[in-house]
Amino acid sequence: MKVLDPDGNTVLLGQREPSASQPPAADDGATVRFSLLREAAALVSARGGIGHQCQVRDRQGRPCPNRAEVKLADSMGDRAWVCLVHADEILVTVPEAFIACEDGQGIAAFLSRP
Ligand SMILES: [Zn+2]
Repeated sequence: MKVLDPDGNTVLLGQREPSASQPPAADDGATVRFSLLREAAALVSARGGIGHQCQVRDRQGRPCPNRAEVKLADSMGDRAWVCLVHADEILVTVPEAFIACEDGQGIAAFLSRP
């Protein structure tokens, strides 16, 4: 989870241990530092991955050559599959961005109410 403190600073919150229902991360090991992004990437990978590259381009318009591992979204509704390097950069520099989760129904259940 990401929140802003009263001064507008981004604060990332997470749990140190994965939930019992989460599959283990592919690179789960004692020497691997815990990372929410790695956990999110492991969930995507456990579902078969997405099989294409990061959707971020550099300032010259060249596509990032890294494999996309997580999906990010922002409060404006934009979404992108990105590599972990760009996910980290975006989450730190874009206050409105968050890791998009494909579990559950999101707000669709509320929007579909009669
Ligand atoms: Zn990338």
